[in-house]
Amino acid sequence: MQLLYVRYLAARPVDEIQCIAQTRRRHRCTSTLLSPETPAGTWRLVPATATSGQLALPSAVMAIYDLSAIPYAEQLRWRAQRCPQHAAIPTAADLAVTDWEPFDPLRHHEHIHNRLPTHTRHPGPTGRAHEAARP
Ligand SMILES: [Zn+2]
Repeated sequence: MQLLYVRYLAARPVDEIQCIAQTRRRHRCTSTLLSPETPAGTWRLVPATATSGQLALPSAVMAIYDLSAIPYAEQLRWRAQRCPQHAAIPTAADLAVTDWEPFDPLRHHEHIHNRLPTHTRHPGPTGRAHEAARP
């Protein structure tokens, strides 16, 4: 995914990335970063360019979850890996380190897909995301 002009490899699927803050009960928060109340990113196909000095890749494009269009504060929230609730409580301690890893197209080539995800998840009326397969 792309946020704050940097491409990262997340440790989990976009809608499963979990908040790292500690709750008042001293457990790790179970909320996900993606929430129906906050702006979502968009899947896009972008050139799979390597950073300078590296070889160009044969696969020309790759799917990326792009957060660069959402407000800056929201991108900071994603980078800090906090749910909307804990983004508002900066004093809550982190119980884990963030899972972000700078994306390296050569080392992470198995994560490069030249097609957009075949199914997307839409927030349902209950607020819980449902999976809807597209033909
Ligand atoms: Zn949280």
